[in-house]
Amino acid sequence: MSDLVDRLREGLPEAAVVQDPDVAAAYQQDMAGFCESAVPAAVVFPETVEQVQHVMRTATELRVPVVPQGARTGLSGAANAVAGCIALSLVKMNRILELDPVDRIAVVEPGVINADLSRAAARHGLSYPPDPSSWESCTVGGNIGTGAGGLCCVKYGVTAEYVLGLDVVLPDGRLLRTGRRTAKGVAGYDLTRLFVGAEGTLGVVVGAVLALRPAPPPQLVLAAEFASTDEACTAVCAVMAAGHVPSLMELMDTTTVRAVNAMAQMGLPDSTAALLLVGFDSLDPASDLAAVGELCREAGATEVVPASDSGESELLLQARRLALPALDRLGTTMIDDVAVPRTRLAEMLAGVARIGRDYELTIGVCAHAGDGNTHPVVVFDAKDEAESARARASFDAIMALGLELGGTITGEHGVGLLKKEWLARELGPVGLELQRQVKAVFDPLGIMNPGKLF
Ligand SMILES: Cc1cc2nc3c(=O)[nH]c(=O)nc-3n(C[C@H](O)[C@H](O)[C@H](O)COP(=O)(O)OP(=O)(O)OC[C@H]3O[C@@H](n4cnc5c(N)ncnc54)[C@H](O)[C@@H]3O)c2cc1C
Repeated sequence: MSDLVDRLREGLPEAAVVQDPDVAAAYQQDMAGFCESAVPAAVVFPETVEQVQHVMRTATELRVPVVPQGARTGLSGAANAVAGCIALSLVKMNRILELDPVDRIAVVEPGVINADLSRAAARHGLSYPPDPSSWESCTVGGNIGTGAGGLCCVKYGVTAEYVLGLDVVLPDGRLLRTGRRTAKGVAGYDLTRLFVGAEGTLGVVVGAVLALRPAPPPQLVLAAEFASTDEACTAVCAVMAAGHVPSLMELMDTTTVRAVNAMAQMGLPDSTAALLLVGFDSLDPASDLAAVGELCREAGATEVVPASDSGESELLLQARRLALPALDRLGTTMIDDVAVPRTRLAEMLAGVARIGRDYELTIGVCAHAGDGNTHPVVVFDAKDEAESARARASFDAIMALGLELGGTITGEHGVGLLKKEWLARELGPVGLELQRQVKAVFDPLGIMNPGKLF
């Protein structure tokens, strides 16, 4: 181990290599429950591309595993350290190198915090749309690693749609440049896209060219209450079928609404079975909201309350962003992330409720309803072995249901450790074999974030 640290220090400032076991333990895992992890041999904080290259050359020479880490807000164990590894934290590579309003791009280092990029883009009249609820803490590198989504993806799409080009340090230390900084470009295989959602298993992202959009007008949001999740899902389908283009369409069930009220006294209606938030950032959001409010009423909404201004709208968004932390206060949680076609959303939510009853567990649901992307959160007592086993079984039942309904086991959080057995089921044998072969091309020694995905 001291050989490893000595070799790392040959190309890094002393303070960039941390061996202290207490500090190392703090970099052991992300925010997923139920996933194994180990204390890394060393935590390294590079500040330049050359330093990352030195780390990877050293790791290749000594055959030491490397786990890239952003802010470790991930929910699948994908950033968890493995025994004897280098935890490679990119948080100090956090500069926005360029923001170009003509080409509408940002060139950034991987440790830039998502919300910092959004604020910087806003100062130029631009926006960086992908907005995970963790945006104040997660990094762009982590967003690329997981292929993160967020609240406004129903209109603007997910991280993959905004990554134009990447600089990646490969496991042997070579620097790979993928993609482009032009508006168009189709030269060769799309390696950029391959790295989005690769969960750090192919290389270390050290720079990214990201597409920006003109800043949209302020968003107005409406809250609609429903006596059943079925009716709320009927409203979601009606809004989409009518051709509306909402910038937000989120759902919270009773358990979630109550948890948010208990945490932050938001005054949300906590007797409702489902609260639907729909937003528009169009030129005339008030009339879009009026039309959508009518569709909600036709679907059975008991109450429809449009926000009167962007301040009130932002409060509703805040409430939605608190959903996961609020549910987390109810006990130990396992956060699922199953996406189904919108047309099957009602069946998905009914199925999750049934699974909760069958396994005698509380399962709160919040969902990016416009994307069909549900986050059923299984709440349990980790000290109770039988209950923990039921929690894991219910989590699996939720994924099985998602696949049955034509969906995917993960809409945005990734596979990591949490869902690796399920990836094989979703991909099938041919898909799985080819993905393993792709991994071997980039990482023949298998040192890049080993044990994740497959
Ligand atoms: C309260 C809360 C709300 C959340 N809401 C959302 C949401 O709305 N939408 C959503 O998609 N997610 C959400 N998440 C999950 C999480 O924030 C995202 O997955 C985020 O993209 C992780 O970013 P990170 O910087 O924390 O990355 P980490 O968790 O540190 O890493 C994630 C993955 O990326 C890899 N990685 C990190 N940096 C690099 C790099 N430079 N090069 C190569 N690989 C790298 C890691 O190895 C790992 O596989 C939420 C999490 C919390 C706690």
